[in-house]
Amino acid sequence: MRYISTRGSDRHASLDFEAATLAGLAPDGGLYMPEEWPRFSQAEIAAFAGLSYAELATRVMLPFVGDSLTRHELADLSTRAYARFAHAAVAPLTQLDHRHFLLELFHGPTLAFKDIALQLLGRLFEHFLKERDGHLTVIGATSGDTGSAAIDAVAGRERVDIFMLHPEGRVSPVQRRQMTTVLSPNVHNIAVEGSFDEAQAHVKRMFTDPAMAGRFHLSAVNSINWARLMAQVVYFFAAALRLGAPHREVAFAVPTGNFGDVFAGYVAARMGLPVARLIVATNVNDILHRALSEGDYSAGTLTPTAAPSMDIQVSSNFERLLFDLSGRDGAAIAARMRGFEETRAMSLTPAQREGAAALFTSVRVDPLDMAGAMAWAQGECGELIDPHTAIGLHAARAVDLDPAIPVVTLATAHPGKFRDAVERATGTRPSLPARVGDLFGREERCVTLPSNYAAIRDHIAALATPSS
Ligand SMILES: *Cc1c(COP(=O)(O)O)cnc(C)c1O
Repeated sequence: MRYISTRGSDRHASLDFEAATLAGLAPDGGLYMPEEWPRFSQAEIAAFAGLSYAELATRVMLPFVGDSLTRHELADLSTRAYARFAHAAVAPLTQLDHRHFLLELFHGPTLAFKDIALQLLGRLFEHFLKERDGHLTVIGATSGDTGSAAIDAVAGRERVDIFMLHPEGRVSPVQRRQMTTVLSPNVHNIAVEGSFDEAQAHVKRMFTDPAMAGRFHLSAVNSINWARLMAQVVYFFAAALRLGAPHREVAFAVPTGNFGDVFAGYVAARMGLPVARLIVATNVNDILHRALSEGDYSAGTLTPTAAPSMDIQVSSNFERLLFDLSGRDGAAIAARMRGFEETRAMSLTPAQREGAAALFTSVRVDPLDMAGAMAWAQGECGELIDPHTAIGLHAARAVDLDPAIPVVTLATAHPGKFRDAVERATGTRPSLPARVGDLFGREERCVTLPSNYAAIRDHIAALATPSS
């Protein structure tokens, strides 16, 4: 399998899976996409029934890795990535009522769905770097969930260092400690005396600073990395198989921010999984809802909510869908994205709108409905759910679908990660699972730096390993 950029016009400039994984973003600013969608027949999907999660992951991901990994290597990496999950099913399904289900994606080490992809990505990095005798310096800025999942995924891995910036005093104590209590020598936490946006700006500048990019092999771990999306395709198959696929259609409601998770659902559908509908649930930061319902993709102003991982202004992975829905014309996408970067606004073409409407429905969920969904899940079904999951569940129940079709809401975070919001909506304070229960007794390691680019760059340059 070869990978092409959403903004590329030269089809011959394709990469293999290994190169696309290590690169993250394409040099032209686009995102990597497989050159074509692998497709499974009904009989092949039926034969997946009963496999363990790691075995299913191997089958679903194998067509994407091409010659970069043998089947045995992929199986080994998957087995090790998912061995750390606290539930034997990795992503178990819970039934809420006659048609609504939760897909629990929060049994990983940092209690959010990002672990499922990042635990694999950390191991892919290590494997590929060992083969090519290289070294990677991962740099990121986080307002919470991504930082802890990325740190856990690369902690103790060979040939990778991670430098994670967070705004000092502006992440929750649980989120901070999930990062700062990881004491592996390759993990470097930096609390920046400034906002998240400032920290993010310093990181972006580092990627284009020749003094950094020339000396170190820098890499990002946000959801633009294709390998992350590939790993997420697996749980759509896992859930649908348990509900009777390929002989029965299933719908999914996905709490959405950067459009990564729900795009993985789209990929599953393109691969032959009978997906009846993908429900894109947004909070009041609703650029995706406006894009899918009215064709208006324009950045608004950011409103902080109780579902912070969905507080976004632009959804990077939406570019992948636009590319796939408009004849995979990289030159056209490049021109439209340049326009968007200038004006912060773009209208979808009729072909893009029609293509999206065939599979996607969107719902914008306000804080009252989010709290209502948490109260319903607890009162009617005895399940405590987190604010992100609640947005998905409200959307799942609001959409008018054939009642014979089961609807799976992706439960993207453990309720214990957002205890205050859950307690406000339900009156019950969720507990932290035992595997992170002693978080507040552990030693922390973190340096605090002023929000000054040179200070942060010099700190990282002194500790990082140059690429050979
Ligand atoms: C990251 C995140 C999301 C949004 O996922 P995208 O792939 O960015 O759409 C939703 N819920 C939680 C808990 C998250 O951490």
